[in-house]
Amino acid sequence: MTGLLGHLRLFEPLPGILAWYDGRVPGYRLDPAPNWVDEGALSVGIAAYAIWGDGEALVYDTHVTTAHAERMRADLAARGVTRFRVVLSHWHRDHVAGTAVFADSPVIASVRTAAHLARHRAALEDGSFGTPPAIRPLILPTATFDGEMRIAVAGREVRLLTFDIHSDDATVLWLPRERLLLAGDTLEDPLTYVAEPEGLRRHVAELARMSALCPDRILPAHGDPGRIAAGGFGAGLIAATARYVGWLAELPGQPARASTPLAALLAGDIAAGHVVACDLYDEVHAENVAAVLQAAG
Ligand SMILES: [Zn+2]
Repeated sequence: MTGLLGHLRLFEPLPGILAWYDGRVPGYRLDPAPNWVDEGALSVGIAAYAIWGDGEALVYDTHVTTAHAERMRADLAARGVTRFRVVLSHWHRDHVAGTAVFADSPVIASVRTAAHLARHRAALEDGSFGTPPAIRPLILPTATFDGEMRIAVAGREVRLLTFDIHSDDATVLWLPRERLLLAGDTLEDPLTYVAEPEGLRRHVAELARMSALCPDRILPAHGDPGRIAAGGFGAGLIAATARYVGWLAELPGQPARASTPLAALLAGDIAAGHVVACDLYDEVHAENVAAVLQAAG
């Protein structure tokens, strides 16, 4: 048996960047009963990040439980961090559940993220929002922005940029000097989870806008742990995501393509190293196909 944090791993993908990665462990669940922490987060693996130095840290997402967030805070405190700021990548539960641990600190999010959280707050807190567990208390952002916000963290320039990819409220972190993109769920390895099937064509256009950043390295919230630990993905992850989302967007017009094996769909991007093959995503892909066809009627 393992405890709540028994599979939590701490990576340092780049100097001054920490990743707390949990899940993507065969057979491991927190709870045998249906719950959102296992399904969609720990099942495929999830990382939250911090940029830290000089006694301060920018925490990018607060992980799936307050226990995870407490570990993040403790690991940063052990490195001398006393000043925390939080940025939320988007409003989905697996990215905001631990925010209460940083309730004494600024919590920054896009205007849309703040609105989504406020609208769903009661349901998220009372547990009526989908499967359990509830997030109680849900901490709302204390500062919002739209488009772009620039901040300095330990001498690094960090730009918070909004995108409409995966969810309409996404915030990514762009470090222009390092050419590093912390992508939240806008990019996922080996393929994106479709939460807003009606938005796929917008997502493709937004991925083109994102690719203009020309990142050298990308750290997604959900992806191969070995690749994340080793410094992340290349810009090919954006192109691979655009190809996959574009394929899904075309699917309603050519529904016979739905039976295309996922391995065939991703073969080129896997061979090129843009994404890493992962059997766990066969199920995610099947759900995506079903969601896209259903949304198209
Ligand atoms: Zn997520």
